[in-house]
Amino acid sequence: MHCPFCAAEDTKVIDSRLVAEGDQVRRRRECLSCSERFTTYEVAELVMPRIIKQNGDREPFNEDKLRAGFQRALEKRPVSVESIEAVINQIKHELRATGEREVRSLVLGELVMEHLKKLDKVAYVRFASVYKSFEDIEEFRLAIESLEAEPRTD
Ligand SMILES: [Zn+2]
Repeated sequence: MHCPFCAAEDTKVIDSRLVAEGDQVRRRRECLSCSERFTTYEVAELVMPRIIKQNGDREPFNEDKLRAGFQRALEKRPVSVESIEAVINQIKHELRATGEREVRSLVLGELVMEHLKKLDKVAYVRFASVYKSFEDIEEFRLAIESLEAEPRTD
């Protein structure tokens, strides 16, 4: 990077150490031109991929929208705010872990479904019936039957 004092391009690293419990690298640099010293910090960039909508439009990942979706699906269900937040964090982690800059909205939808299914079966069916276009009514019936066949956990 350029020297912040004289804008020269060549600087050398004179010291490098881990800081912030290993989450950052602090580098002490010296300008080869004016000999001024300065410090840089390096952190891993954890950006959320953009979402590719069904019509091909791209939009930024919207955490509020995701939260609202969960809240709508989990309305009047015995699921704590903490559980919802934990799942939102997990989904964000999974999206970042894809390493992709763009992710199809269907992929996000599948993640939501997967987590909702573990969180609350009723909410899952509620969400699925609205957001997942079940191929036909038969597929929807089978989904409900498969849920009813599982032992109740509440
Ligand atoms: Zn300089």
